[in-house]
Amino acid sequence: MAMRKPIMRIPYTDLLVPGPIVPASASTLPGAISALTRFFTTPPPGDLPNSTVVLTGAGLSVASGLADYRGVKGTYRVNKTYRPIYYHEFLSNHEARKRYWARSFLGWSSLHKAKPNGGHHAIRDLGDLGFVKDVITQNVDSFHPRAHPGLSTLELHGYLRATVCTTCKSEYPRDEFQNQLARLNPRWALLLEEAMASGALNTEDPMEKRFRGLKTNPDGDVDLPDAPYTTFRYPPCPKCLHRPPLKEGGDKHLVKADREGAWELPSTAGILKPAVVMFGESIATQVKTAAEDAIDSAGKLLVLGTSLATYSAWRIAKRANDRGMPIAIVNMGGVRGEDHFFKTLTEGQQGEEGVRVEQATDELLPALVSRLRREQHIHMPEAAGENLTTFKDMLS
Ligand SMILES: [Zn+2]
Repeated sequence: MAMRKPIMRIPYTDLLVPGPIVPASASTLPGAISALTRFFTTPPPGDLPNSTVVLTGAGLSVASGLADYRGVKGTYRVNKTYRPIYYHEFLSNHEARKRYWARSFLGWSSLHKAKPNGGHHAIRDLGDLGFVKDVITQNVDSFHPRAHPGLSTLELHGYLRATVCTTCKSEYPRDEFQNQLARLNPRWALLLEEAMASGALNTEDPMEKRFRGLKTNPDGDVDLPDAPYTTFRYPPCPKCLHRPPLKEGGDKHLVKADREGAWELPSTAGILKPAVVMFGESIATQVKTAAEDAIDSAGKLLVLGTSLATYSAWRIAKRANDRGMPIAIVNMGGVRGEDHFFKTLTEGQQGEEGVRVEQATDELLPALVSRLRREQHIHMPEAAGENLTTFKDMLS
């Protein structure tokens, strides 16, 4: 049996050069809407199923106030020295974990307040209209499951809404963890309270007014250039603290907490991490397989707000391309391998074989939904009527 190579999440910080707009008429908003309407309403070639799988990235959440990695105001552009924490570093280094959780503590409240935007809701509508069956996202902000609980979402890189124990794999709500962090770190809690009371968290760029140079990254933490991370404290996994798990050899792990309940050395287990796939960490095999299955059961791929710079995402798009699936890409900035995805298009095609546009997803997608509703109403008045009923039922 061949060894299956693990897919590791690795940051790719280079900026990619955007390819040409496809078709050329799609350089305006109405042109982009027309091209995507053709894309959705034309059946895919051969025996491919007539449904679309959506693959999204950080660009889709920009309209919710989160930073992109590579966009105009993206993390990699604004902060050239930004370096995310790596999994092995988090696991092996107590100091690195203090730093991570301190940043995450400050970033959580603005992330928690942020909401899905028109782009996410348009994906829900595309599902209701019968065009989209599956969503694969690289985002860890939980906006997809919130915006469209009825439409399946595969969270390729996990989610920030929970913490997970690196020893026993138990998950805990991130909200409760936030309260524990506040209790263990009263001075940081005060700093956060002041920032919130001053209204700094209500501005579009939440923390910036209060802390200059401080930004919420797509991974939910903030950059804080100078702060006493060394004093930050975080709790252990309650289950492992209560009953220390066994090591591989059969001896018991040591899990200790200080008087107030903060994890302390020389503990060897019970470390909680965010339930996200950290950089340098492998994507679980079942998640990878589920993503492949989603591609294999669809006939078209819509890529939204991602440069496909991470290998795991690029691989998904390549799989769709290899299956002969038409691909539509909406992204500000270049996309890894995009030339390759569009090189076999018939000259003069108007979007049915492939689309490449640079438009804001929160404007383009709702407008596309309106257009598709009108088209569906013209061609299938009864089906459209049913869908409207379903939609109203969902709201009531
Ligand atoms: Zn545990």
